[in-house]
Amino acid sequence: MTRIGIISDVHANLPALEAVLGELSKRGVERIICCGDLVDYAPWPIEVIARLREMDVVSVQGNHDAAAAGVFPIEGFTEEARATIDWTRAIISSNETTYLAGLEQIHKEERFVIVHGSLRGPLWEYVRDTFVAEESFSSLTRQVCFFGHSHVQGGYVSLAGSVKSIDPHVQLEISPGAKYLINPGSVGQPRDGDPRAAYAVVDLDHDRGRVSFERVPYDVGSVARAIDRVGLPHWLAERLAIGK
Ligand code: ZN
Repeated sequence: MTRIGIISDVHANLPALEAVLGELSKRGVERIICCGDLVDYAPWPIEVIARLREMDVVSVQGNHDAAAAGVFPIEGFTEEARATIDWTRAIISSNETTYLAGLEQIHKEERFVIVHGSLRGPLWEYVRDTFVAEESFSSLTRQVCFFGHSHVQGGYVSLAGSVKSIDPHVQLEISPGAKYLINPGSVGQPRDGDPRAAYAVVDLDHDRGRVSFERVPYDVGSVARAIDRVGLPHWLAERLAIGK
């Protein structure tokens, strides 16, 4: 049995990341994997990258990581996102830029695959409904794919030709014969109405296993004040409190 902590969309929110890392260490995870978007939206991109590297976290590249590293065009981003990408680019050094630019878009292991968006569009595509999920299942060559990008905890299961969404409020049993797309939710900017930092803990054992979707509170107010203090768009501070 291997116990793995799954995180995604940290978005430079160091206090949220520290809260999650504290919980993962209590749960005795052997390793941590990340589905991308380490930077943008909050003031600590350098510290977040350093912390993840120090913990040997395997991460894929998110659209924000690629944009901040200058290897992805910023035209498709919203105005707030473009402002934060410019802010991040101005404070990170070549050390962080090289790291972000060098992240894999799809990371494959024996039991699972990690991607930010989807297998078809690793940087951009959102898996937010069963139709898009079905497309991802058709190119999934492992039993499990961990993904992020939507900032919504949960995912999809494919069993006997039908695709259903996963309820993150109950523990998920991984059973042989089924395939899974699992989103741990966002550490640093949840968008499912719950402002607490999201993550998942996965136990994998041959073709069976278990996934628990977790939340942990952190000091949202102090992060919101820090966002305002450094001059990032105010909406980024407001949305943290409502989980949007
Ligand atoms: Zn994101």
